[in-house]
Formats: sequence, C-alpha cells, structure tokens
Amino acid sequence: MQNKDLYFDQQHIWHPYSAVGAGQPLFHVDSAEGCTLRLKDGRELIDGMASWWSVIHGYRHPTMDDALKTQIDRFSHVMFGGLTHDPAIHLAEKLLDITHPALDAVFFADSGSVSVEVAMKMAIQYWASQGHAGRQKFLTVRSGYHGDTFGAMSVCDPVTGMHSLFAQTLAQQIFAPRPATPFGQTAPASDLKELKALLESHHKEIAAIILEPIVQGAGGMRFYSSDYLVQLKALADAYDILIIFDEIATGFGRSGKLFAYEHAGFAPDILCLGKALTGGYMTLAATLTSRKVAETIQSGEPGVFMHGPTFMANPLACAAGLASIEILMQSGWQAKVKRISEGLARGLSPCNSLENVQEVRVLGAIGVVELKEAVDMKVIQPMLVEQGVWVRPFGKLVYVMPPYIISDAQLIQLCHAICHVVEATNR
Ligand SMILES: *Cc1c(COP(=O)(O)O)cnc(C)c1O
Repeated sequence: MQNKDLYFDQQHIWHPYSAVGAGQPLFHVDSAEGCTLRLKDGRELIDGMASWWSVIHGYRHPTMDDALKTQIDRFSHVMFGGLTHDPAIHLAEKLLDITHPALDAVFFADSGSVSVEVAMKMAIQYWASQGHAGRQKFLTVRSGYHGDTFGAMSVCDPVTGMHSLFAQTLAQQIFAPRPATPFGQTAPASDLKELKALLESHHKEIAAIILEPIVQGAGGMRFYSSDYLVQLKALADAYDILIIFDEIATGFGRSGKLFAYEHAGFAPDILCLGKALTGGYMTLAATLTSRKVAETIQSGEPGVFMHGPTFMANPLACAAGLASIEILMQSGWQAKVKRISEGLARGLSPCNSLENVQEVRVLGAIGVVELKEAVDMKVIQPMLVEQGVWVRPFGKLVYVMPPYIISDAQLIQLCHAICHVVEATNR
C-alpha cells in the first residue's frame, strides 16, 4: 500500500521545485512529535530543518494543539471583508507589541511571497499618493531570496534565483552587489559604493530598497555585517527612499535577536514576517508598516490599500500565530537559541578540516556547511536519512535551523550526522 501511494505521488504530485514522474526520492511521514519525524517504515529522523525555519516549538506542541482545537470549536474561517475576530485582533496586538514601536499597522497575507507582494504594493502606493507614480522600481542586493510569485521573483537574485526563464515577464529591478562584510565585522563604506551610485542615478524611479537583514537565506545562507544596514539606512534617508526588510526567515528569534533588524538598531518602514509566525502550524504571513506609510497610502486615490485575499487573517492561522508568540515569549528563547548556536559551532567544527568544505558558519540557531562543489541530492539525501536526520541541502549548502526545543543529545547527533555525510562525500 505504502509503495503504491508513493508511486502515485511521484507520478502526479509536484513537490517544491520538482518534476512529476521523475521518480525523485520521497520520505513518507507518518507522524511527528517534538523534534522527531516518524516515517511510515518506522524510521525516526531528527528534524534539522524545522520544516524550513517554521516549526520553532517542535511538532505537536500541546499548547499549540489546544489553541487550534479551541478555535476549531468556535469557527475555522470567516471572510475578513467587513468582519473581524479575536484571533486577528489579538495576533495583531501581539505583533505590534513585540516589534519596533514605529511599526503600527498590520496586513495579514497567506504566505511569505504574498507578504512581499503586499510590501511592494504598499511602497508603490505610498509614492503614488504623493504624486510620484513614477516610483515603481525596487533596489535590492544580489544573493537575495524573497519568494516565488512574480513581484517577489523580480527582486530575487537573478542568477541563484533561477528566474531567468521568466525574464520577459518580470519587472526589471535594480541590483547592487551583495553585502560583502561578514557578520560581526565592520563594513567599510566601499561595501555600499555601488549601491550609492545606483541610488544617485535612479532614486527618482525607486519606491523602496528591499532586502533580508543580516541573514541572506535561500539565496546563499550568508550572514553579513549589521554595519552595512546602518550605512544603508543613512543612504535611504538621504535619498528619501523606503526600506522593506524581509524577515520571513529571520523573524522570531532565529538570528539570536527576536528580529534581525535589532542587530542594526533601527526598524524598517515595512516589515515582512512569515514562516515561524505560526510555529509552523498554518500558512500565514504579515506585512507591518508605520502609521505614516499607512496614512500616506490612503491619503491618495483610491483612498484604500489595494489588496485583500480570500483567506485573509484566517482565524485558525491567527490562533496558531498568537499561541506561538506566547509560547516563544515565555520560553526563554534567548537561552535556547544561544545553546543551539554553541552546539552547532562545536558540532559542525570538525567539517572545517575537510577538504571539500569551503566554510562553516553559525549565527543564532542557524548552522551552515558550505561545500566547494554542489552536492548531488540523489546521493546525499538518502545518506542523511540513513544517519537518522532530516536535512535538506541545496547547491553547495548543507544547512540546519532546528526547532528551538531540540535536545542537546539530538543536536549532537544532528551535527555528527552532517559531519559524517560531508566527510563521506569527500572521497
Ligand atoms: C521563504 C521565504 C519567502 C517566501 O515565503 P513563502 O511562504 O515560501 O511564500 C520570502 N522571503 C524569505 C526571506 C524567505 O525565507
């Protein structure tokens, strides 16, 4: 039965960036609890991915489960046009409470990519309302990742984003070099030289600068200097341009601060949140902005912000978000992230001496082993599963961002498995 189901899946269902009918290896999850995925064949895997940054409290967290069940017993969904409900109100209050005081208004979106679309539309409407309808372009840095929908794709790295296929349809944006100075070091002004020149020549067309603060995620898993952002902020102010921070991956403690912008000490004009927002229980994202941006948007024609998805502020998702943030804030997350950080640094350090390894880097609860050559997923994925861990490398990157509840023993086993597999592919 199990093989029949897997075969059906391979023949008919797309997975992320996959081909149907290509017989890609799939691992069939039967249940999950804490930091463990249990497969149909009985094998247990330690989850190193937190299901792509999102499951920060682990699977089947009792408080999360209860929050969702309680909401199901009230209502699971209701349209948000003209109606409202406690989960949305309380989650918005909570988000404004834990983010920078300058952020004052919340738009609930269905996914990270959509929250990026919403942020970009906000920036365009902000300028249009002031009579600058020509400001519709975005400045960004290379190696960024912002999602898979068209607006979001247009600001992804044009090379690693693999979106060149769609170049004719994509809006043409303006790209500066990626931030070059690693996290923890002082960025020289020369890092922003080209970005400054681009601002100088294009500022009248630019609605906003969009980038991932501190951690560039799917575009390369790089950690860069907070100094870069401080200098970027000064330039954005000088040229009167909005800043959008995409914290869909970094939000909710992952980088060692509750939000990565805290490393740089200032808030963006617009902030995108997603992934860990619901503790990985439901799809939900949010775009936050200041009162000034919100009021400016609605001061022009047509007097409203022009976006409104069918499932906006889905009550189940909002209930999950609210519970997740409450758990996070009560959990002593700083100590947990610090413990994971130290465990990853210690556990992955043996990789440093391997010949096929370019660099090992750790920031917050994120660990990256960058190899010299791209890995063969068909080979490495089963090897990792064989070692009892769920890690999903891409390109040259073997990386982990485990749930914050991972135990010391699990963390040691996770790192050990990675080192073992990286070493085995060395030969
Ligand atoms: C995952 C991610 C997105 C896209 O979010 P989806 O929910 O997959 O649409 C956008 N930006 C960043 C930084 C991300 O990590």
